[in-house]
Amino acid sequence: MSVVGIDLGYQRSYVAIARSGGIETVINDVSERSTPSFVAFGLRNRTIGVSAKSQISSGSNCRNTAQGFKQLHGRPFSDPHVQRAKSGLAYELVQMPSGSTGLKVAYMGKDTVFSVEQVSGMLLSKLKETAESALGKPVADCVISVPGYFTDAERRSVMDAAQIAGLNCLRLMNETTAVALVYGFYKQDLPKAEEKPRTVVFVDLGHSGYQVSACAFNAGRLRILASAFDSELGGKAFDDVMVSHFCQEFGNRYKLDVRSNPRALARLTQECEKLKHQMSATSSDLPLNIECFMNDVDVSGKLNRSQFEEMCAALLARVDGPLRGVVEQAKLKMEDVYAVEIVGGASRIPAVRDRISKFFGKERVSATLNADEAVARGCAVQCAILSPAIRVRDFSIADVVPYPISLRWNSSVGETELEVFPKNHAAPFSRVITFYRREPFSVEAYYNQPKELPYPTATIGQFLIQNVSPPEASGEISKVKVKVRVTGHGVFSVTSASLDRVLKVSEGEEPFEAEQAMKDGEEMCTDQPEDNRTTLQCDNVGEDKPETSEDAEETPAEEDGVGVKPQETANQSPPQAKKPKVKTKTMELPVESTLHWQLDGQTLNLFVEDEAKMIMQDKLEKEKKDAKNNVEEYIYEMRHEVHGVLEKFVGAADRDALVQTLEAAETWLYEDGEDQPKTAYVDKLAELKKLGRPVRERHAEAEGRTKAFEDLRKQVQRYAVVVEAYRAKADPRHEHLDEVEVGRAEQLLKEAMAWLNSKMSQQSKQDLSLAPVVKVQEIQAFTRELHASCYPMLLKAKPKPKVEPLPKEEKMEESNGPVSDDQEGTEARPGSLEDLEDQTTEEQMDTQ
Ligand code: ATP
Ligand code: MG
Repeated sequence: MSVVGIDLGYQRSYVAIARSGGIETVINDVSERSTPSFVAFGLRNRTIGVSAKSQISSGSNCRNTAQGFKQLHGRPFSDPHVQRAKSGLAYELVQMPSGSTGLKVAYMGKDTVFSVEQVSGMLLSKLKETAESALGKPVADCVISVPGYFTDAERRSVMDAAQIAGLNCLRLMNETTAVALVYGFYKQDLPKAEEKPRTVVFVDLGHSGYQVSACAFNAGRLRILASAFDSELGGKAFDDVMVSHFCQEFGNRYKLDVRSNPRALARLTQECEKLKHQMSATSSDLPLNIECFMNDVDVSGKLNRSQFEEMCAALLARVDGPLRGVVEQAKLKMEDVYAVEIVGGASRIPAVRDRISKFFGKERVSATLNADEAVARGCAVQCAILSPAIRVRDFSIADVVPYPISLRWNSSVGETELEVFPKNHAAPFSRVITFYRREPFSVEAYYNQPKELPYPTATIGQFLIQNVSPPEASGEISKVKVKVRVTGHGVFSVTSASLDRVLKVSEGEEPFEAEQAMKDGEEMCTDQPEDNRTTLQCDNVGEDKPETSEDAEETPAEEDGVGVKPQETANQSPPQAKKPKVKTKTMELPVESTLHWQLDGQTLNLFVEDEAKMIMQDKLEKEKKDAKNNVEEYIYEMRHEVHGVLEKFVGAADRDALVQTLEAAETWLYEDGEDQPKTAYVDKLAELKKLGRPVRERHAEAEGRTKAFEDLRKQVQRYAVVVEAYRAKADPRHEHLDEVEVGRAEQLLKEAMAWLNSKMSQQSKQDLSLAPVVKVQEIQAFTRELHASCYPMLLKAKPKPKVEPLPKEEKMEESNGPVSDDQEGTEARPGSLEDLEDQTTEEQMDTQ
């Protein structure tokens, strides 16, 4: 089980993980904390992240590098945003057979259309891999962020992307809610539950969008009060203004039509972005220079902060709208706002900060959170709360519904509508709607204020409530309870539908199961309401029910005119021979959901399979590239070394042959060997190593030999010292040694010295380009053997003196009395034999 938070950004994505040590943002394969949200398609494989982005900078593969696809989720090709985005993208957008938006690129040499779910799935696969290498285990469970303004279709599309990547998304989390969580989770001084909550406003200005949320905090709890957005105001919008400015300037000055050249446009966009960053730090004039920009023309321009602010005045004016939006919706008084926390890369634009400060008052605006990583970290905290894998303090999170949601259905009086979730209604939340029906029926969910949406997608989906039938042939009406919910992912769904059957049984009889009763033709008790009436009631069941005062106002509206309750009906029935008992049986009804712009299960499965195949292809390609690189590296190193460190270890003729072989291999690499299967490179490397290995081995032997000889010499000397001390009878530590054994050891030491001297002399006469007379391993084995033989003879422990058993009383006395000489002798003393043994063993280990 993994605890991972993913900020799926428009421009850059972040991965945070939770471990027992806390939450940390992890680095990717090139040691960067952010991964560019770019996917490049090539002839043999895909590249994702940093290497994909570099293909745009170098202009080498612009047309096949997908970026900016976050805003394509859940949108049809005909969507005005998609149509507008098309012209700014170097790759092609096309209509999928379903009407949704596809990305057309050349992959493996063929024009291929990928759905946005697939492309996001590829990016998520890469982020999953990043988390896996940080955690050192497979990752599935995670929490992924989405902008709060994402509609159902967009959210479901991101969920599908997660599934394609093999991720189990425990929750889609609104970006500013993730920021609020990471803010509140670590605060120790939040007001107690019964106290007035602390209100903090969170502002996130990213690359594509602008989001503002007002949040009320109490200890262990956060409640989003309202949120507002501008889905088209972000760093990108500022870049676009600068790009337009320079396109015009270069058009006039150099007569260049920049927009006709995707590569030039991509380079200009990157340069403008860099300039924007620099302008955040300085207000002086800044140059923009691009060499060989287009048609071999070098271009240059300049800009300063005040010019930038002037040309972006219309964008800057849009900063206030969402700020005002949350203040009005949440009915905030300025003095109630404890702080305004700003995050998101583009919030670093000084003019943006100034506007926010002006709106709320400078003293309230702060940037205490990590502007880039707060979203991912908040998602990781949420994942830790949801996952049993890690124990964290509980923290309750109540979000809001961004757009009001209504249901409509046909009834005998025509089309009926009902707003089930007003704007800023708490989420997640469930409600139960009661229908009276004789037949299956369908309801449609939709956004009732389509103008509030970033694009005109009012429909959410159709839900067909199946298997509705009258309780019996009499044609009575069934009471159908439909449970609708805005889930933790912020997605609307009909979670269940059920039908209450009321069974009447005679006294003494056991109540029947509903199905059995119907089958046996038992009389059913039911109410007799007017046709097609509907009641709306809160569902109080479930852990997600927020504890808000508003909830109390939304409590059941049974008094709306629902019919007589079944039990009451039974009581009002005319008296019968046997007083009936009543049992209500709830039958679950199947619900068929047709969701707007939802991938069907079969297509999704196909995409999951395709992703697995592409991952495998990338892996094979990587292995092949690595194998090829190994050959290239070996050629380079060997050629360098045979004229350097290895020179003495190879004869002239052999060196020439080796160099020739290396050169031939290099030519092969750039010609026939340019694109070969992995095995060809593995074989080529083996062939080269066969020639190079003996040379390197001789070098390695020479390097190790001096030390090995020296170690053997030291070993001989160490034992020779003991023999000498024994013979001199000067040291009582050696008194216990055996004369015969000492003699034998002395002989061994002599032989060892002779062997050492003879090998050293032979080796000194041997040419280094020939095999050595003795190998390092042999010398080390000899040293070990010598130690194994001499140690028990020369360094054995002194036998312990025998202690006579004493009568009990004396023994007790003795334990408190002075220590005898004998006893003292058994203990280790400074400079004793035991010390020497230890030293010898340690040193011996070093030599091995
Ligand atoms: P989104 O939140 O819209 O999905 P994102 O999360 O990828 O996008 P961020 O990483 O928060 O976006 O911000 C990226 C934007 O911030 C870019 O437009 C970038 O140019 C801008 N940005 C980053 N640093 C600075 C800076 N110092 N000055 C101005 N703009 C900056
Ligand atoms: Mg972001």
